[in-house]
Amino acid sequence: MTDRTMERETMVTQQIERRGVNDRHVLEAMRDVPREAFVDAGMEELAYEDQPLPIGEGQTISQPYIVGLMIEAAEVRPGETVLEIGLGSGYATALLSRIAGRVYAIERHEALTERARARLGKLGYENVTLQSGDGTQGWKDAAPFDAILVAAGAPSAPASLKRQLAIGGVLVIPVQQSDRHQTLTRIRRTAEHEWDTEELGAVSFVPLIGAEGWTEDGQRAATNHVSARDQPLPEMISDAAEPLPDFDDPAFGALFDRYADRRVVLLGEASHGTSEFYRARAAITRHLIEHCGFSIVAVEADWPDAAVVDRHVRHRESRPSEDAPFARFPTWMWRNTDVADFVDWLRTHNEGLNSETQAAFHGLDIYNLSASISAVLDYLDDVDPDAAQIARERYGCLTPWQSNPAAYGRAALNQSYRDCEADAVAQLRSLLERQLDTEEKNGTSFLDAAQNARLVRSAEQYYKAMYYGGAKSWNLRDSHMFETLEHVLEAHGPEAKAVVWAHNSHVGDARATEMGAIRGEHNIGQLARERFGDQAALIGFGTHSGTVAAATDWNGEMEIKRVRPSREDSYERLCHAAGPPRFLLDLHRDRALKERLEKQRLERFIGVIYRPETELQSHYAEASLSRQFDAFVWFDETNAVTPVGVETRRDGVPETYPFGV
Ligand code: SAH
Repeated sequence: MTDRTMERETMVTQQIERRGVNDRHVLEAMRDVPREAFVDAGMEELAYEDQPLPIGEGQTISQPYIVGLMIEAAEVRPGETVLEIGLGSGYATALLSRIAGRVYAIERHEALTERARARLGKLGYENVTLQSGDGTQGWKDAAPFDAILVAAGAPSAPASLKRQLAIGGVLVIPVQQSDRHQTLTRIRRTAEHEWDTEELGAVSFVPLIGAEGWTEDGQRAATNHVSARDQPLPEMISDAAEPLPDFDDPAFGALFDRYADRRVVLLGEASHGTSEFYRARAAITRHLIEHCGFSIVAVEADWPDAAVVDRHVRHRESRPSEDAPFARFPTWMWRNTDVADFVDWLRTHNEGLNSETQAAFHGLDIYNLSASISAVLDYLDDVDPDAAQIARERYGCLTPWQSNPAAYGRAALNQSYRDCEADAVAQLRSLLERQLDTEEKNGTSFLDAAQNARLVRSAEQYYKAMYYGGAKSWNLRDSHMFETLEHVLEAHGPEAKAVVWAHNSHVGDARATEMGAIRGEHNIGQLARERFGDQAALIGFGTHSGTVAAATDWNGEMEIKRVRPSREDSYERLCHAAGPPRFLLDLHRDRALKERLEKQRLERFIGVIYRPETELQSHYAEASLSRQFDAFVWFDETNAVTPVGVETRRDGVPETYPFGV
């Protein structure tokens, strides 16, 4: 069996300790218990990932951090007697058995109980007693308990469990607060008829089904009304909010004059398919170019495709062999009416200007990322459809679509996927060589040539990382995008100033989000702050609800999807509650507000993939808004972009190259 001691150590330091769990009994137990023994065969590779995983019967093994947090909250000590409801995989029971004297655990699904029994037996953990059945009524014969842990969400704390606590004992249980919102709750029995209740934070668990929990069809057996809403914060946001004028009103761009002296202004977006985000960024960029001396627009797009647009907007000759730009998934990201309007504006603006004063349009992304991904998928579809399916899931990780336990499970690498590596990477190399060859024949500009040379040097590394996905490829990609930005700035001279268009997940300082703090990922925003300090402005964008253009799977069709109203425990909900429908929130204007908005909360990230069914796991992550951004631009209700098809010409404007055929 593979030795996973190192992975376990990394999990404990990065996911558990760094998030503030420091009970030494918990940490020792987590260093000791082999988590891979509690996941299904074939998923061992994922055992130490920062998330829940499927374990069969529609249930999940909890995220390691949550398990650590719950045991710490239950204050379990050596020699104690503990009850766990929702045995599941048996992992939490195993940890408890390493700390407590005796552990009792109950699971509704007999198949899970038997699987857990076998696992615990094999590991020789003997101080545990298991039972199949309804745990909401506890285990009377073994009571009282020093601690009771419940690993499923209840409508309210079951009275039976409260009564089975020893005086001084602690019950830790997720309690439902509203339709989609659970709070981890600690209840301490302080006297025969007295219990103290404390809320520990938002969590997401499967339902607790039983006599004192939920019915099978989701009816609540009891109610619990506790309002955790932070009343004054929306009011503070409302006071600080500066209303946004119409996109075409020059006053819109003028609001951003405060960033006129920056070297780089990074404009984010909360999805890759929302019209308002594009139009706002276009309005800000037009102002910065016309009035503040900015001359570079650098976007999260492939270099060669953006180069076609650049030649168009700078009135340079196109190349005869040129493919239509942005013709591959996700086409709507750049082929949409908002981008087309902005490109038209840039071209008009540049007319008659000399090449030094013209505004340029560059792509920051790893050379031909989308062409490369398509090539790998085509190749794998041919030789090994299962491996192609894995690749599709893995490419999801290159976008701000986070994992969904079920899909992630399927993305576990198998041997045939590894066997395909050499051939797939070779395919990518020859694709790159072909493209560079064509460019050379056509004669490239100096900047193109320098960029190409850098790419060839690191191509192998990129392609390997892209093939395997994960944090390493994320970091390679963002480092690459930032270095490209630096090269472009350099090529445009010492005074050059750039506007960057990229997703919030690339633009907001990664150190202020789970990405950086837990997963070790960095991004353009962080690198720009490290390099340019106060000369960089990081501006995030957000929305409450509306529609968005996105796909369900990598390479899937574009769909217009409804964006779910933001979660109650999110930053978005605070902005929604503030009231004004569209505003700029300058996070440096009001010190008190900045401090309040440093508190970690959920923030929504929608990329080219949107999966509303698993929205919490797939699209929300913890962030500290005022550390992540310098300002936040808010549109309460938003609309999907209107795509411009590869074959369509826009009405009445036949020469709309590069967006026509
Ligand atoms: N600690 C477990 C979590 C499993 S998920 C792990 O890390 O693997 C929660 C489990 O609670 C599910 O397996 C579900 O079947 C179980 N469950 C739900 N209602 C229950 C009840 N009334 N009694 C016992 N188990 C229950």
